[in-house]
Amino acid sequence: TSAVLELRNVTKTYRVKQGLFGKAKPLTAVNDVSLSLPRGEVLGLVGESGCGKSTLAKILLGLEAPSLGQVMVDGQEITAQDRLSLARRIQPIFQDPYSSLNPRKSIYDIVSLPLRVHGIGDKAHWDKEVRRILDIVGLPARVMNTYPSQMSGGQRQRVAIARALIMKPEIVICDEPTSALDVSVQSQILNLLGDLRSEFGLTYLFISHDLAVVEHLATRVAVMYLGRIVEESDVAGLFDDARHPYTQALLKSVLTPEPGLGVPDTQLGMAYPNPIDPPSGCQFHPRCPMAGAHCKSVAPRPVPTSHGHVECHLHDPDSPMYDPKVA
Ligand code: SF4
Ligand code: MG
Repeated sequence: TSAVLELRNVTKTYRVKQGLFGKAKPLTAVNDVSLSLPRGEVLGLVGESGCGKSTLAKILLGLEAPSLGQVMVDGQEITAQDRLSLARRIQPIFQDPYSSLNPRKSIYDIVSLPLRVHGIGDKAHWDKEVRRILDIVGLPARVMNTYPSQMSGGQRQRVAIARALIMKPEIVICDEPTSALDVSVQSQILNLLGDLRSEFGLTYLFISHDLAVVEHLATRVAVMYLGRIVEESDVAGLFDDARHPYTQALLKSVLTPEPGLGVPDTQLGMAYPNPIDPPSGCQFHPRCPMAGAHCKSVAPRPVPTSHGHVECHLHDPDSPMYDPKVA
């Protein structure tokens, strides 16, 4: 399968001021990430809040330019000038449908907006398309004349999905699309996204802090930590045979009685590091139960596994920490 969307060695650095009189320091939100999204697949991107996954989404949507590296669509590099055409092919669905839907606009205005912005068709066409797409996402046509405040959270997320799909995109970037919803509504929306994917041959990047949600939909999973992809795997390999100690900790937190609440710090020993002052060597070492002295000074490199790749000294045959029992 060919990659419809690809990141090559993408880095995004911001300059961030700490405190009123603080000096601006660089913050590397995305650190040399290479990812490919094959057509028709769902790549789950998992990590805790602050790991850089939303920045990655903005780069893919053309809302942010990478500091280094390339974004490729169908093997062609995407530049700033291509953003408008990119927007036709790549659409977002964001986390909180309430804040991403303009409360003063009717559902009709919200859903038809992408067509109007891109100058596609006339009023008759918009009417037809809004009816068609509302039906596809399971909403009655009469909601056209209502406002977001008159809808439930699940209905609002259906509106956000309708707005994304009205452009007939090939790729949908879903950034925590169900995190603001009740658990019962979450599964309805996940089922809808799954149905839409097979019906329209969509390709998804599905961003979540919750591995349980990702397992539902993803075909591949990339685990992100402090801006790096520390493990990537097909979904079965990740759930059966996770290699990175961080992925293993995330999986344990999925198995706790209250999934969906993110990663309890009890599993990982301490809070997420401040990305402005990341740990040396392997950036996971302060929280890693397997860490050795070597991990504090030397960053691991990506090494292949049977189902993807991982960045951890325990799995690198060239590392003094290589452990064939673990790897
Ligand atoms: Fe843990 Fe060391 Fe592996 Fe990093 S390289 S994940 S600190 S064992
Ligand atoms: Mg986020």
